[in-house]
Amino acid sequence: ILRKGSKIIYKGSENDINIENYLPDFGEFDTNIEGGFYIDTNKPFLLKQQDFHFVDGSEGSIFIITDVRNWIPQIRNSAQQLVLVFIIVTLLTALISVYWIYFSIIKPFNTLRIATSEITKGNLNYSIEGDPRDEIGQLCIDFEEMRIRIKELLEGQLESEKNTKELFSNISHDLKTPITAIKGYAEGIIDGIADTPEKRDKYIQTIYKKASSMSVLIDELLLYSEIDANNVNYYFSKINLDEFFSDCIEELSLDLEVKNIKLSYKNKVDKEIHVLADAQQFKKVINNIIMNSVKFIKNEKGLIHIYIEDKNEFVQIGIKDNGIGISKEDLPHVFDRFYRTDESRNTMKGGTGLGLSIAKKIVKDHEGKIWAKSEEGISTTVFIKLRKYEEDKNE
Ligand code: ATP
Ligand code: MG
Repeated sequence: ILRKGSKIIYKGSENDINIENYLPDFGEFDTNIEGGFYIDTNKPFLLKQQDFHFVDGSEGSIFIITDVRNWIPQIRNSAQQLVLVFIIVTLLTALISVYWIYFSIIKPFNTLRIATSEITKGNLNYSIEGDPRDEIGQLCIDFEEMRIRIKELLEGQLESEKNTKELFSNISHDLKTPITAIKGYAEGIIDGIADTPEKRDKYIQTIYKKASSMSVLIDELLLYSEIDANNVNYYFSKINLDEFFSDCIEELSLDLEVKNIKLSYKNKVDKEIHVLADAQQFKKVINNIIMNSVKFIKNEKGLIHIYIEDKNEFVQIGIKDNGIGISKEDLPHVFDRFYRTDESRNTMKGGTGLGLSIAKKIVKDHEGKIWAKSEEGISTTVFIKLRKYEEDKNE
């Protein structure tokens, strides 16, 4: 609509409510309102007014009028859809949040709570899992590791308590036997049963032998407690293996000959090979292994064979006997402290079951390896692997 003064001089189209009667006067409104304004709240017309002056100075206004009646249902519809979409989105977000909170916070916390209460009740077998990708999952994994650690510690403690009890019973038994004998022979002398000098001499010899065996047992116990507490000082030196074993054989062979056991030795490595070892401690290892072979020999004709082989930068010592052997079930445990096979218990061979565990600790402190192979009823071989001493490397 174009208006000059109060007269309408142009009208774009006719309308049903005579809109021209409702038009504002010249200058009535701020004509710069963005997007225009409604003429009257009851009339759904959007109006944009621009005032100006004609060339002759008269006041003019130009109006652009939009009938919004057709749009209202559309707008209302869109608004409803918008609200609906908003509600759905909000609901979905809430659902996802609840799901997320449940699975990544509440559920793992609940699992942790149950696991903690199980541990409090003393059940250390209740295992849990966690997702390593989030913090609470990581906490569950750490918790699980802690449970396993506690379980191991507790089992170790129980095992060691069991071992200690077993040790006490073994020691009591092993000490009681010679003590009873010593007491008996001493009484024999006191009561005059040993009435000849020869008899008395024999009794005294027996007392001496029994006391010596007790002393060996006590020494072994002391050594074990020292070694177990890491209180042993090693004096490492460069040792010629061939000389070391030749010495060992010489020391032992007489003793073994008396027992009808043949000791043989074969060195397949260079006679100049050296190892870094504490000769005294290493001798204890070898002696213990040989003494085991002697103790568990089965045949009338015992055989013990010591052989040394070359394994590149290592040497491997094998000590083989033709004794009673060790069963498959016992073999993995013979290096455990206080472990003795039923066979050795039943035959009252004596010993605390410490020998091989001491040997293992000493070899380990030499950065070596010790293990055994056995065929039950046929033979046992104990192997020791040590690194060769190389001048420039070990300097
Ligand atoms: P200790 O050495 O303390 O006097 P031990 O000889 O019984 O006691 P280990 O030397 O540790 O203890 O040996 C453990 C067990 O392994 C033995 O009791 C025995 O049952 C078995 N064993 C070890 N060496 C042999 C072997 N050469 N033949 C058969 N069984 C063996
Ligand atoms: Mg032994």
